[in-house]
Amino acid sequence: MTRVAIVGAGPTGLFTATVLARRGHRVTLVDRDPGPAADGSWARRGVMQFHHPHGIRQPIVDVLGTDLPDVGAALVAAGAEPILVKGHPAGLRSRRITFERVLRAAAVTEPGVTVVTGHADEVLSDRGRAAGVRIDGAVLEADLVINASGRSGRLAEGLRAPETSGDCGVSYVSRQYQLLPGAQPGPSSSPVGLISRFAGYLGVVFVQDAATVSVSLTRRDTDEELADWRFPEVYEAVVRVVPGLAEWTDPARSRPITRVLPGVHLRNTYRGQLDERGRVALPGLIHLGDVVCTTNPTAGRGIATSLSQAQSLTGLLAEHPSDVLAATLAFDDYCTTSIKPWFDDHQTSDPAAVRLLAGEKIDLTRPLTSVHITAAADANPQLAPIVAPYLGMNALPSSLAAAEPAARQVYATGWHPAPLPGPTREDLITLIHQTKPTPTPA
Ligand SMILES: Cc1cc2nc3c(=O)[nH]c(=O)nc-3n(C[C@H](O)[C@H](O)[C@H](O)COP(=O)(O)OP(=O)(O)OC[C@H]3O[C@@H](n4cnc5c(N)ncnc54)[C@H](O)[C@@H]3O)c2cc1C
Repeated sequence: MTRVAIVGAGPTGLFTATVLARRGHRVTLVDRDPGPAADGSWARRGVMQFHHPHGIRQPIVDVLGTDLPDVGAALVAAGAEPILVKGHPAGLRSRRITFERVLRAAAVTEPGVTVVTGHADEVLSDRGRAAGVRIDGAVLEADLVINASGRSGRLAEGLRAPETSGDCGVSYVSRQYQLLPGAQPGPSSSPVGLISRFAGYLGVVFVQDAATVSVSLTRRDTDEELADWRFPEVYEAVVRVVPGLAEWTDPARSRPITRVLPGVHLRNTYRGQLDERGRVALPGLIHLGDVVCTTNPTAGRGIATSLSQAQSLTGLLAEHPSDVLAATLAFDDYCTTSIKPWFDDHQTSDPAAVRLLAGEKIDLTRPLTSVHITAAADANPQLAPIVAPYLGMNALPSSLAAAEPAARQVYATGWHPAPLPGPTREDLITLIHQTKPTPTPA
């Protein structure tokens, strides 16, 4: 039995704590967030994405099904709705709050898990090995420290090589709505709900649990003129004229239940376990989840890559029960081959997606990215058997290479993925100017 300290009780920390406790370890799970309030509300300060829409992809359901089947079942009992595409499971419709509440309930009731509310200030070491964590000044001793402190976590900054990163190139706003009693759902075009690309912006409706939907508007980061759709009166005016979003947000069908939430400073990041000299700087300290890899949230891959990591790490710790260094190195190899490819994919495809949003034609002198290859499947359905496993995250981005030549042929005919009919970004800018609140004099 090992004493394990896990910093961060997000999806990664909660999953890992429960699995390790069930395998006989004594786990202390530390988070500055105290968990849901007595009335069930959960502000979750410091995790800005918490109330944004989350697509719960099938790989997440599969990881839970293998390692924590009771938690998978509890999610469905809590209202998360299984998605079926042509009879095949394709994820869950669930708010992040529902997902995390269920994971948290499992962790806090697991006999081998102790949950501590506090801020982890630093990782402690003794004779060149991790020896615990300082929490609000107090020492928590541990044999293994897992840093699952998320995309904004700053713990153990100096104990790894700096991250590789790039801007996603987009920003968005979202708002949750609840269907009125007896109201019928609005239009759908995809397993998650409705995904629509218009001239210069995206509109997406995520269908979630408990008769809620989350409606998002995405723009290019540099497109400042659209940024004012963050004002509630502007946001409501905009969604009311965008086809599909208008139906879902019609006051006769639904009512808003959150503020208009900004999703900004979105970055793709990757940071492995090793320091600049290619060594594990502090044996016994392992980084996990978003602190290893974040990808463009508009693709909704973060929990899948995080829980896949957690499944791999917990398996490797079982394989190397008395050699944490060997487990760490094997885990770093796993991340290099199975997680980093998703980061690399976003680094090349995000700029292409931004150019597409700007209405630019595809430059066939450049290599086609995953955005181009998947879009070409609309024109050539024979690409679907190659593209679908990638889209479902059942195959790595490299699997798309097999479809590249046929996709190139599609574009050589002059075909281009056209935006849907609807108001253009210029139309929305006019509307934004008309509805933007005038600032009150100080
Ligand atoms: C806008 C947005 C939308 C997204 N949409 C999707 C989606 O649709 N589908 C999907 O799969 N993924 C999505 N993601 C990614 C997903 O949210 C993350 O992958 C997921 O939150 C990672 O979980 P985590 O546990 O690693 O980190 P987090 O959820 O960030 O949890 C980290 C925890 O660590 C705690 N913490 C940090 N530092 C300390 C400290 N020093 N001491 C104590 N506690 C600390 C924080 O309070 C927090 O609870 C989205 C991300 C963003 C930004």
